[in-house]
Amino acid sequence: MQILSGIYLHIPFCKQACSYCDFYFSTSLANKDVVIKSMVKEIEESQNYLPEKNIKSIYFGGGSPSLLSNVDLSLLFKSLSNYYTWDLETEITLEANPDDVTTEKLKVWKEAGINRLSIGLQSFNNEELKWMNRAHSAEESLRSVKLAQEMGFHNITIDLIYGSKFQTLKSWDETLEIAIGLGTQHISAYNLTIEAKTVLGSGYYKGSEPSVDEELSKELFDLMVNRLTEAGFVHYEISNFGKPGFLAKHNSNYWLQEAYLGLGPSAHSYNYESRQWNLRNNNLYVKALEQGDVYFEREELALRDRYNEYVLTRLRTLWGCDLLEIEKKFGPELSDHFRARAHSQKKLLDEKDGIYTLNHAGKFLADGIASNFFFL
Ligand code: SF4
Repeated sequence: MQILSGIYLHIPFCKQACSYCDFYFSTSLANKDVVIKSMVKEIEESQNYLPEKNIKSIYFGGGSPSLLSNVDLSLLFKSLSNYYTWDLETEITLEANPDDVTTEKLKVWKEAGINRLSIGLQSFNNEELKWMNRAHSAEESLRSVKLAQEMGFHNITIDLIYGSKFQTLKSWDETLEIAIGLGTQHISAYNLTIEAKTVLGSGYYKGSEPSVDEELSKELFDLMVNRLTEAGFVHYEISNFGKPGFLAKHNSNYWLQEAYLGLGPSAHSYNYESRQWNLRNNNLYVKALEQGDVYFEREELALRDRYNEYVLTRLRTLWGCDLLEIEKKFGPELSDHFRARAHSQKKLLDEKDGIYTLNHAGKFLADGIASNFFFL
C-alpha cells in the first residue's frame, strides 16, 4: 500500500476537557481566528517541507475540528491549494464530536471537500460518557452518525474506548453490536490509558480512580477482534478495523513511514530524514510565526532511530516487518539483529516469505514486543 505525502492540521480547541485526554487543546476559543491565521502563515512557511506536492490525504484533527467555521475551513483549504494539489482520490478527513454534527455543518463540510468523517463516539453508556466528561450523550452519538449518512457521507469512522471501570465483557459486546449496526466503514477502538496530566490521571494518583484491569482489557480486545472481523472488518492495525477498500489512508501513511506535514500547535511532521514538532502552546505558536521565529523543534533521525520506528509502527499492522526491506533500508547489521530477535520471540509472531506479523497472542502485547526488537 503506497500512499505518500499527507497533511495533518491540528485544530487546538475543544468545548471542554475530556477526563482521559492528553492531546493539546485550549477550551478558550477567544483566539481561534488568530491561530487559524498563523496556520495559514505556517502553510506558506512550510511549503518546501514535503518531497511530493500531490497530496494523498488531508486530515483535520485535534482538538475539535468540528468547531471550525466555514470561513476557517475555506481559509485553510485556499491556502493549501496555493502550494499543493489533490484530487477526488485524496482522502480528506475531519474529526467531529457528535454534539457538533448538524445538517448545516455537514453541508459545509461536504461543500468544502471533506469526504471522510471521524466521529468520536467513545461509548454508548451515558454514565460512562459523563465520567469521561464528553460533551454529548449516547443518543446524540447515534443521531450524529445517522445524520451524516443521510447527508451523503459514505466513508465514516467512529472512535470507541474500552477498558474503563464501567466496562464488562457483556457491556463491550453490546457496544460492539451497536457499533456494527451503525454501518460505518471503519472503527477505531482504543484501550483506555491513564495519562498523568489528565483529570483521570490525577484521580488515579490520588487513589479515587482504579487502574485499568489488564486481564479484562485483553479479554475485551479478543472479543473485539472476533466480533469485528466476523462482521467483515479487516483488522489492519492493533486499534483499527476497516471494511475492504476503507482502510484509513492517512494513518496508514504514518504506519508505513511515508512523509507527512503537521500544521498547527503541537503538530508533528516527518520527511524520512527528520521529525519535528510544533510549539505546544497557542500563544507561543502564534507569536513565533508573527515574529518569524522558529516555531518547532527538530530531531535528525539516525539509521537506528528509523529502524526502531519502522519496527514499532509496522509490527502493529497487517503489513508487518519485511526482512528484505529491512536489509535494503537499514543494512545487514540491522536485518541480522531483527532476525535474531524474531527467532527469540517466535511464539508471538507469524512469518511468511520473510514478512513477520504479530499472531493473535502477540497483538495485544504489540508495543512491548516491538521494544524487544529495538537497536539501542
Ligand atoms: S478527546 Fe477530543 S474532544 Fe475530548 S478533550 Fe481530547 S481532543 Fe478534545
